[in-house]
Amino acid sequence: MNTPFSRRGFLGVAGGAVAAVGLASPGTAALAATAGGGVASAAPSVAPFPLSGVSLLSGRFHDNMARTCAYLKFVDPDRLLHTFRLNAGLPSTAEACGGWEAPDVQLRGHSTGHLLSALAQAHANTGDDAYAAKGRYLVAELAKCQAAASGAGYNAGYLSAFEEKVFEQLEAGGSPWAPYYTLHKIMAGLLDQYRLSGNAQALDVLKGMAAWADARTSKLTHDQMQSVLRVEFGGMNEVLADLYLLTRDPAHLSVARRFDHEAVFGPLAAGQDQLAGLHANTQIPKIVGAVREYEATGDSRYLDIARFFWETVVHHHSYVIGGNSNAELFCPPDQIVSQLGENTCENCNSYNMLKLTRLLFFHDPRPAYMDYYEWTLYNQMLGEQDPDSAHGFCTYYTGLWAGTQRQVKGGLGADPGSYSSDYTNFSCDHGTGMETHTKFADSIYFRTGDTLYVNLFIPSELNWSERGVRVRQETDYPREDTTRLTVGGEGQFAMKIRIPGWTRHARVRVNGRDAGAARPGTYLTVERRWRDGDTVEVTLPMALDWRKAPDNPQVQAVSYGPVVLAGGYGSTAPATIPAIDPKSVKGGSGLTFTATADGAGVTLVPFSEIQHQRYTVYWAVPPAPARPRLTASYPFAEGSGTTSRDATKTWPDATLAGGATWTSDGAVALDGKSGHVALPPGLISGMSALTVAAWVNPEELANSARVFDLGFHKNTYMFLTVRTGLGKARFAMKIAGMAAEDYVDAAGPIPAGVWTHVAVTVAGGSAVLYFDGAETGRNDALVMSPLLLGATQLNYLGRSQNSSHPYLHGQVDDFRVYDHALSAAEVAALHAEGRTS
Ligand SMILES: [Zn+2]
Repeated sequence: MNTPFSRRGFLGVAGGAVAAVGLASPGTAALAATAGGGVASAAPSVAPFPLSGVSLLSGRFHDNMARTCAYLKFVDPDRLLHTFRLNAGLPSTAEACGGWEAPDVQLRGHSTGHLLSALAQAHANTGDDAYAAKGRYLVAELAKCQAAASGAGYNAGYLSAFEEKVFEQLEAGGSPWAPYYTLHKIMAGLLDQYRLSGNAQALDVLKGMAAWADARTSKLTHDQMQSVLRVEFGGMNEVLADLYLLTRDPAHLSVARRFDHEAVFGPLAAGQDQLAGLHANTQIPKIVGAVREYEATGDSRYLDIARFFWETVVHHHSYVIGGNSNAELFCPPDQIVSQLGENTCENCNSYNMLKLTRLLFFHDPRPAYMDYYEWTLYNQMLGEQDPDSAHGFCTYYTGLWAGTQRQVKGGLGADPGSYSSDYTNFSCDHGTGMETHTKFADSIYFRTGDTLYVNLFIPSELNWSERGVRVRQETDYPREDTTRLTVGGEGQFAMKIRIPGWTRHARVRVNGRDAGAARPGTYLTVERRWRDGDTVEVTLPMALDWRKAPDNPQVQAVSYGPVVLAGGYGSTAPATIPAIDPKSVKGGSGLTFTATADGAGVTLVPFSEIQHQRYTVYWAVPPAPARPRLTASYPFAEGSGTTSRDATKTWPDATLAGGATWTSDGAVALDGKSGHVALPPGLISGMSALTVAAWVNPEELANSARVFDLGFHKNTYMFLTVRTGLGKARFAMKIAGMAAEDYVDAAGPIPAGVWTHVAVTVAGGSAVLYFDGAETGRNDALVMSPLLLGATQLNYLGRSQNSSHPYLHGQVDDFRVYDHALSAAEVAALHAEGRTS
């Protein structure tokens, strides 16, 4: 590889986290310690079954796992050891890997950690010793590299594929590409090898790495350490706290807590959502770590942080498929349609959110956690893998802009097609993909001493060895709405069956008899003495459900049961979010539906099944036509105070802000420095057509100064500017996912020093711009409808969404919005009315 990475790639990378999720009962160690007395800790109340106790039966999950397992058997460990060996001064003749494992890429080594985790999971779940053998070889060879550390000039215990001096750069205030992130992956992989595959040497190597991390970080002051934490560090707190739960060595806990990032934990502990703008997957593993630290310390602040974070991300930062982030960053809360793009929903984020969800459930078994788990599993994780890839290649993002197709990250362009590859990709998502697709069996069933949780409806067989009970689950869910569980063996226990929040009129029958009210969003409990051959039949009726986006209720996604449906567009992307008539959606066979969108037929299928083609998940749903109205009118007649009334009595007052003042003749004066008028949010929501009109008298013309700008941020807006660099006034609109804006240029700028009546009308794919009642520009080939803008939050006169643009210097008056396009004669008449005073 040469230099395949953009600066952004270096600044904001990679994915998350963490140790295999305590597949062998994370609570056990904590429980033992509590019982032993003295050590504060908070043991989970619910535990998973070991991966060895649950087998996947044939179906989609089994198939996905089989592909990844084929890759695990195929991949050459010596190629993944190559840079480790060279870094330790040991010989290696293996061919170097490419992508993010290339010898000149700072992140090299992370994939070896993912591979260790995936091999351990595959071994535990299938019992096939080939995975364990490959793991043993990797661990033994890594141990040799670690043993050679001092000979290579490193501190004792150092194990990495890059030089230790990178940590000196980090401690000196530099921003190398996530060195602790990479070490975390290796440490997590070693812990999984020990826990799931019984590899004792892995624990020794891991302890050596932990001792190295302790020595390295114990020399730093608190402030120096917090500075180190500016750079993505994965789940260092998580793996070290988890190690402590295993070893009870206080050093492991103290070094774990050194990785508590207070700039992130502080606001979360105070119940404040300050996530906007943060690199999402840098944060999520820290929060997974917070749950482990709660388990290790009993300090409820950690649990509060994790719970608040989960609620905030799931309810205010997640797209309809369960994923989060646009271009890897958390967006402002409740911005969804205004934040669509090809690079939404980095897959690592959801891999980590599912880890977090699972750990939180163990402490507080709320059905909502497993509802989210199922939803994100079906609608994001299943689909990240290419079903046509024998080796289970994955994408990096799950883009949700209309017309996106599944893709790897830009810059990893050595790969043909849109997915990862054997040796030339090695993105974070290739790594987390190896893990995700080898642990589907870990959350289908959970348990307490006398309770069995049935969480997921995945064909599988559980061996509850402590109770001598087996449960076989057979279903083609979600292609059918019913799953059947058959009990083998006997015993008294409660079976808790998740009734998803999305269903209505669910039914559970035990041996053919109704088991009672199955309310959505609960666990239905069946407690009895189970006998060999008892059957439980769970029916979860599915229906189409339209889901409105929070920032634009006229843009919706449609789900059927647990799956979000997507429209397939082949190789031709729709120009923008297609408009659909919900009533046109008709069921076909199975989960295939047909509908009419933008006047053409389209086929809808579960989103996870859309591969190798362009798609849309979100649809514009135009409102029914209504009587045309003037919907907002601000005459600015008050002449004093800082507020101004809407004459239609529909909207709250506008506010004169930033030093805006009144003129003596009933207009608003703006100083070109900070003065502007703040209009209420939502002014143009739900409009397929509109007219925006105002009077404006600029004292001077600054390029990009706005007459009005209605939007969310600098990528989703509708504005009129007095002049662009081309010397003409421009009306433009765009939402974030569009490559280019729709615009209309006037014949010239808005004149300075005189009052001009400006109006723009938009309808039916045309926009017309008027000065003083006469047309001055037109575009009859608009791509978008104003309907896509939604409930714009930042609505201004005299101010741009883009803070680098100048404010308007001049006066504005008589701002009006109509929910339809005025005719040319109506615009002329409006101009002829003159300015109100
Ligand atoms: Zn990633």
